[in-house]
Amino acid sequence: MDTLQSHRVEMLSIAIAFVAIGAASAYYVYINRKPKGCLDPENFKEFKLVKRTQLSHNVAMFRFALPTPTSVLGLPIGQHISCSGNDSQGEEVVKPYTPTTLDSDIGYFDLVIKMYPQGRMSHHFREMRVGDYMAVKGPKGRFKYQPNQVRAFGMLAGGTGITPMFQVTRAILENPGDRTNVHLIYANVSYEDILLKEELDGLAINFPNRFSVYYVLNQPPEAWEGGIGFVSKEMIETYCPAPAPDIKILRCGPPPMNKVMVAHLESLGYSASMLFQF
Ligand SMILES: Cc1cc2nc3c(=O)[nH]c(=O)nc-3n(C[C@H](O)[C@H](O)[C@H](O)COP(=O)(O)OP(=O)(O)OC[C@H]3O[C@@H](n4cnc5c(N)ncnc54)[C@H](O)[C@@H]3O)c2cc1C
Repeated sequence: MDTLQSHRVEMLSIAIAFVAIGAASAYYVYINRKPKGCLDPENFKEFKLVKRTQLSHNVAMFRFALPTPTSVLGLPIGQHISCSGNDSQGEEVVKPYTPTTLDSDIGYFDLVIKMYPQGRMSHHFREMRVGDYMAVKGPKGRFKYQPNQVRAFGMLAGGTGITPMFQVTRAILENPGDRTNVHLIYANVSYEDILLKEELDGLAINFPNRFSVYYVLNQPPEAWEGGIGFVSKEMIETYCPAPAPDIKILRCGPPPMNKVMVAHLESLGYSASMLFQF
């Protein structure tokens, strides 16, 4: 009888131990879980436009609400989303965009959009009003960000190609564990075309030893201290890290610019493993 009793007690203790281990594991997983993202790579999901801020005659910042005030978008650094809309003929168009916000910005995400007069998706954005919904799918892209994956990034951006660069730069500089240096060359037609200038200048002031930006304009204003014309080999040599196994040069710009940049980089001795195009 005693043996049966002690066996029961033993079984009960084991059961309690299992329950305790299970509860502790569940609690550990719960407190360490990453907030779940709001994107679906296979299906478009709708996000409500809650704010639209005109930044210049053809550029606006669009703020979209996430499902709850504590939701995060869940877009890996350096990747982009696909936005779906309708062009002026009512036909569906899907284009890639990189939010300027990170997952440290909770409850919303921002897109800075340049709207071209003849652009198909540009038409959709131009027509969007607060309260409208945008269909978004993602994440997309091959770029994988890891803190300290290189000693330094050189970045060659043209026009709206600044948005992935801005996102990666913010992620690096806002991460106290990341010591990567960033050297950006940013090309535009005119001064008014420069996107996120205030934000970029702010980063250069706040992180003088970690981040530098060199602006290049085709049509500069009279008093201009930046580069003039197109991004040249000499500019890359002066403002980007020299070829080395622990650096990477990122590119994002209009296709003709990307093509010329590859030729410059190759002739300066950068190998394929040192280059990446968004
Ligand atoms: C990874 C990635 C991220 C991007 N992120 C952003 C972003 O955050 N914000 C943003 O505004 N765009 C971004 N773009 C560009 C965006 O995807 C579209 O190409 C852009 O919005 C134009 O689309 P559209 O349909 O309006 O123009 P389209 O119908 O494709 O083009 C119509 C006309 O618009 C003009 N045009 C279009 N694109 C350019 C250009 N790049 N330079 C000069 N003239 C042009 C040309 O005159 C062209 O003939 C990104 C692109 C990539 C690849």
